[in-house]
Amino acid sequence: MTDPHDLAARIRYVLVRTSHPGNIGSAARAIRTMGFARLELVTPHRFPDPEASALAAGADEVLAKAGVHADLVDSLAGSSLALGLSARRRGVNLPEISPREAAQQVLAAAARGEQVALVFGNERTGLENEELARCHAMVRIPSVDDFSSLNLSQAVQVMAYELRVAMLGETPALPPVRDEPPADAARMEQFYVHLAQTLDEIEFHKGREPTTIMLRLRKLFQRAQPDERELRVLHGILADAQRMAGLAKRN
Ligand code: SAH
Repeated sequence: MTDPHDLAARIRYVLVRTSHPGNIGSAARAIRTMGFARLELVTPHRFPDPEASALAAGADEVLAKAGVHADLVDSLAGSSLALGLSARRRGVNLPEISPREAAQQVLAAAARGEQVALVFGNERTGLENEELARCHAMVRIPSVDDFSSLNLSQAVQVMAYELRVAMLGETPALPPVRDEPPADAARMEQFYVHLAQTLDEIEFHKGREPTTIMLRLRKLFQRAQPDERELRVLHGILADAQRMAGLAKRN
């Protein structure tokens, strides 16, 4: 499995024609909290700027290392996949995907060693058609139709969060720790025989065919995967029930 740092290093966040330096700072902070560091700026209106530094809230290194480019194509150098984030469906014929789907595609490409860009537009005008035309797909955060536009840095945060969640999901979950392994098939079979006998003896079936209920009970216990100790307790309960049924019959 690829080291998460290597994956993150292949993913860049590109902010195009950003008007407010505060948003650049907030975006730096947003990606830094999710383990990313690469910010590329295309013709920012003001940068560097004290407002950017103030809102970066300590993510200064991201700002210090941010590349500044004269056009979008420059900022995409070396990348083989570019996804454009847009609140509105534009007149471009691009596949539209969710941030979650985007995260899967981005990580798959990064795991193959490719570099990937996530492209964000200007606060007021968004991404222009010719900017989206440089992208392979459009990512839309599913906001409501009548108020669909998020603050730029918040859109960055949503995308960075989805990538982080997807990256954490890549780590195979450790199997749950158990004190004892589940009982084996032979032991389970003994238990089902005992259970069936007991149900007979306590006259649980009342003339009904026992097959269906036995299958259901099997399903229940298979799901629970009892261990040997737990099976001993269950056998104990069944044995007591059998004893009581015997007593009841004698009276
Ligand atoms: N009026 C502009 C809004 C720009 S908001 C427009 O309609 O596009 C600034 C940037 O934040 C956008 O260019 C986009 O990259 C990102 N953004 C905001 N809301 C978004 C959403 N719902 N889905 C995807 N990206 C969004």
